[in-house]
Parts: sequence; structure tokens; C-alpha cells
Amino acid sequence: MRKDVRILLVGEPKVGKTSLIMSLVSEEFPDVVPYRVEEITIPADVTPEKVPTHIVDYSEAEQTDEQLFQEISKANVICIVYAVNSKTSIEKVTSHWIPLITENTDKDSRVPLILVGNKSDLVEHSSMETILPIMNQHSEIETCVECSARNLKNISELFYYAQKAVLHPTGPLYCPEKKDMKPLCVKALTRIFKVSDLDNDGILNDNELNFFQRICFNTPLEPHALEDVKNVVRKNTMDGVLNNGLTLKGFLFLHTLFIQRGRHETTWTVLRRFGYDDDLELNQDYLFPGLKVPPDCSTELNHNAYLFLQSVFDKHDKDRDCALSPEELQDLFDVFPYMPWGADVNNTVCTNDQGWITYQGYLSQWTLTTYLDVQRCLEYLGYLGYSIIAEQESQAAGFTVTRDRKIDLQKKQTQRNVFRCNVFGDVASGKSGFLQAFLGRNLTRQKTIKEEHRSYYAISTTYVYAQEKYLLLHEVFPDFDYLTDADLACDVVCLVYDVSNPYSFEYCTKVFKEYFTDSRTPCMMIAAKSDLPEVKQAYGCSPLEFCRRNKMPPPQTFTCNIAAEPSRDIYTKLTTMAMYPHARLRCMCTCNRCTFCLCQNFLNSELLQTVRAKLYAVVLRRHVSQEDLKSSTFWLKASVGASVFAVLGFAVYRVLLKSR
Ligand code: GDP
Ligand code: MG
Repeated sequence: MRKDVRILLVGEPKVGKTSLIMSLVSEEFPDVVPYRVEEITIPADVTPEKVPTHIVDYSEAEQTDEQLFQEISKANVICIVYAVNSKTSIEKVTSHWIPLITENTDKDSRVPLILVGNKSDLVEHSSMETILPIMNQHSEIETCVECSARNLKNISELFYYAQKAVLHPTGPLYCPEKKDMKPLCVKALTRIFKVSDLDNDGILNDNELNFFQRICFNTPLEPHALEDVKNVVRKNTMDGVLNNGLTLKGFLFLHTLFIQRGRHETTWTVLRRFGYDDDLELNQDYLFPGLKVPPDCSTELNHNAYLFLQSVFDKHDKDRDCALSPEELQDLFDVFPYMPWGADVNNTVCTNDQGWITYQGYLSQWTLTTYLDVQRCLEYLGYLGYSIIAEQESQAAGFTVTRDRKIDLQKKQTQRNVFRCNVFGDVASGKSGFLQAFLGRNLTRQKTIKEEHRSYYAISTTYVYAQEKYLLLHEVFPDFDYLTDADLACDVVCLVYDVSNPYSFEYCTKVFKEYFTDSRTPCMMIAAKSDLPEVKQAYGCSPLEFCRRNKMPPPQTFTCNIAAEPSRDIYTKLTTMAMYPHARLRCMCTCNRCTFCLCQNFLNSELLQTVRAKLYAVVLRRHVSQEDLKSSTFWLKASVGASVFAVLGFAVYRVLLKSR
């Protein structure tokens, strides 16, 4: 909303400008008036729209043209005053004042005008006949009003109209010549209708109307008021009401009616609630609320935002096949000013047999956008009306900024749900195949992907100890000169070589030595294309030996050249490594199934870590308070069970290690 409103009064001398201002302020007609009164400010709480209002007088006798021009450019609304009993003063409105104002204001931000016919006490007839043609010619004239400073007639109305002309201008909404709403206004209201049509059946039913009413005006509609509204629409339109609900046509008709009856502040309230500014563009503050993301932190959607996105999916998946057909996707993004997802998205997330984005894939893509470009995601949620429909303060309420990765490493715990794995490998080593296999696509399927539709990202979910986590794979362009910080910052690294190409391994060793030898990021070597005959790598030592020397798990064989869907095991391993980069008893197989892996995972589990920490705290602390005691007995009980299990785990581990 605006901070204040500045009203300027202009017109020929002696038409009563100064008298009008003085009558408003003192509520009586002044017998003696100066040429000009000083600017007055009416405090917000006594104005009808609750905005501080400045009223500025003009006098040719006291002010220069330069001063006038300056005032014109500063004004938010200009009242051109004439005297109803003076023909010359009316003529001057068109011959002098309107052109003068047009010359001194920006073309893009036309200031609204109000024609004020003063001294109505002196004549019997109205000046409207002369004034209406002028109004029709000049669309910037918001309204006209006849008044009398002497009789105090229409004085407060005049200033109310002026205020309203600034706060709720009709200009952007309505075209008086066509007697219809302007296209941009129709577009905005159509978007609002679609966002508010929660079940996407093209009709606002009573529930949706009540919700709409509540979020826009803070009060639900009385049942009979709801019926009255529908009856008005029924009477005036063919199909404005369908199945006892309001169609888009009816909704638009209703707003046209509001505007035509001078109630355009109603339409403005709706538009503003849905984020529109005076030019009917979505507000920057609405689309991009401040969301600070410190370095080494990542961004994730929270539960609330996922729920909202789910409901958006459900309302557009009309055939309930848990995937969005191209038409359904088009319909979903109809409330956007452009289509945000290109064909590459279909190769970034899971799709069904028809190549349509599945429910899982849809949520994955949102997760990806949130992780890579949170500003964009804020904007997208804004188009979908997240903050309004989910009744949140702003779009930013849908996001979690995770803890600094350095602290995660220190505390050996993470609350993250999205892990990034950067995939390095020489040209044609099988990186893309590795990414696509994560989306369940074998080589045959991958060959159908068009070059211009390929993606350097793949994201999907994996389950680590029954917890659903997102793994984001990023294929890094194999050229050291192009490496960015984002290419190096990740939770786990994949180094891919082609078992059938003797020169592909060396690249992996280079990347590792250059960037990851001393880094705390876990690395995994992938021996890709394992369906092909393996050749000896042209490098000083074998890949297995290299991994051993550098304390990496042994190379993991991988192929996507199989008839069925490629196995997901490797991706679960990667996610586990990303979640537990500290795994001290690192099992070399990381299969997550053998006893080694289970022991290791248990020892790293959050429960055990907490129990251990509590135990230490209790044992080491000298002065134990009553409160502590209560909780520590609990923890002691809990930890006895846990440590028995841990000891058992160790024993099993040792036995197995020996037998190895
Ligand atoms: P300005 O030059 O436009 O500021 O006009 P003034 O306020 O100085 O008024 C000029 C003259 O018109 C004064 O003598 C006022 O008393 C008189 N006047 C102003 N408003 C009215 C009105 O509503 N009715 C009548 N009858 N006289 C008015
Ligand atoms: Mg004056």
C-alpha cells in the first residue's frame, strides 16, 4: 500500500480552490480567504482510507510557472477546479489545464484527474452536460464532482474521491469507451480464479467462495449474501452460475459490475491480496520475499510446501494416473506468465512409460529448483499462490535453510533431506548413463533422448534406513577450465571411468588429486560399462589399488546396458555416504545389506550418537541437578539396551573381519 497521498488543486483564479480547502478543514465557509493556503496534511486516522493525505493549493498570483510544474509532477492526483457559473473557467479545463498537466507528467504514469465544479450554490442547472464529453475524451479523468464551498456540499466527498483515485485507480482496470475491463485486469482476475478454484473444476463452489471471501476480506459471506450474489450473476449472464457455483464468466462479470458501480476498491482488494501492484504486475515483494541463504547452507522445501505442491498436483492430475500429461502440465502452469519447465525436465526426473512426469518426478523437480535456485522457486510458488492458499506470511515460509555443512561435519549429524552428488568422468565415460539410470532408464531407453533435451541433472528419492531422501546427481563438464565452485561443493563425489577404455581412469585420478585428496567429501569410484570386456587401465596402479591407497571404497561396477530397470543399490550407497561422511569403520563394500554395513550404520545412527553424548554428559558432570537426574535415569535405561546392542555389533563385526 502507498505511504501517503498528495492532492493538488489547480484551476483559474477565483474559482474557489482556497475556499474549498479551508471549508474542508474548518467545516465552515471562510468569508475572507488568502490567495493561497500552505500545504496541509490530514493524519491517516481521520481519512476514509487511513492514509496520510497532503492537500496542496495553487495560486497564479503567488507562484511561478516553474513552481506549478514542480507541484504537478509531485502530485498523485490533481483536481482541476472550475466554477459552475463561469464558462471561461470550464473552457480553460480543456484548452489550458489538461494539456499543461499532460506535458508535465510522465507518459507511463499518468496522474489521475478529477474535475471539480465549485459554487454549485449559485446556479440551478448542472454543468454535467458540458463536462461529460470532456470526460469521454480524456481517460485520465477519474471522475467529476459538483460541490459548493459555501454550502459545504460534497466537500469531503471530493477529497475522498481524490484519495480513492490514487489508492484504487480505475485506469488500469476499466476502459470507459468499451465499457469493459481491460485485458490485463481480465488476465489477473482469471489467474486469481484458477488459483482459488481448489478442485480445478472451473467453478467456484460455496466452499471455495467462502475461502476466497475470507482470505480477501477477512470475513466469510453470509449464506443469504452468497445467494444474492449468485442471483445477480444468474439474472445478468447466460452461464455465470453453473451447478450452483460461480464460473469464470460469472466471476469476471461480478468484478465488472463492482467497477461500473464505483466499487472498484473491492476489485483492488482482491488484486492486491493476490500480489498485484498498481500496474497489475505481480509485486516484487510478493514474488521475491527476502530469504537469506548463508554460504555452505542449502535450501529445501518444508512439509507445508510439499503438502501444497501435492494439492496442486492432485488438482491437475484429472485422470488420476499419478502423472501429468502435456495438457495437464500446460494447465498447471497456466497461472504462470511463461512455461517454466522445458523438455529437459523430463530427463531430469522420473517419468512414466509415456514419458510424462510422475508425481514423484514432479516433487523431485521442485526439490531440485529449491536446491539450485531458491529465488526462482520463490517466484514459482508465488505464481501458484502458495502464501495465499496455504495462508502463510510469504512464499519464504515454505522453505528451510539447512545448517552450515561445516557444522554438520563437526557434529557428525545432518538434518538435510537433499544430498548433492557431483559426477566426474572423462568424455564418454558413462556419466549421463549413470544419471539416467537413476531415473530407471536402461541404455535402450536412454538412446531415445534427443540431444537438445538432455539434462546435466538427475534427481530422485532413495531410502536410507526407511527414511526418504533426495539424491541430486550433477554431471560435471569434463574440462578443468570450466569448473565452478558449485561443481566442487557437494556431499559426495562420483568418479566414473569406462572399464573398456584404458585411458578413462587417469582423468578420475587427476580430479581426485587436484580437488579431493584433502577434502572431507566422501568419494566413490564407479567402474562404468561393466557389461563390456574390461581392459587394463593405462595408469601406474589399478583402480582397486588406487582406491585402497586413498582410503576409498573399491570401484563399484555399474552398467545400464541391461534389459530391465537398472539397479538402484549404488544410489542408496551414495546417499548413505553423503549422510554419514564420517563412517569411521568404513566397510569397503558399502552395500548396506551385509553385517559390516549394518553395524557401521548402526554405530553412526543418530539415536546411538545421542545416547552416547548423554551418557558422557552424565558421567563427566560433577554437579547433577534434580532435573538432570530425572532425564539421566531415562537415558541410562535407554542406553543400556543400546550399548548391549552396540557391543554385540562390535563382536559380530570382529568375528566377520577375522573370517575375512
Ligand atoms: P481561488 O482563487 O480559486 O483560490 O478562489 P478563492 O477560494 O479565493 O475564492 C474566490 C471567491 O469565490 C471568494 O470570494 C470566495 O468567497 C468565493 N467562493 C468560493 N467558493 C464559493 C462557493 O462555493 N460558492 C460561492 N457562492 N462563492 C464561493
Ligand atoms: Mg486561492
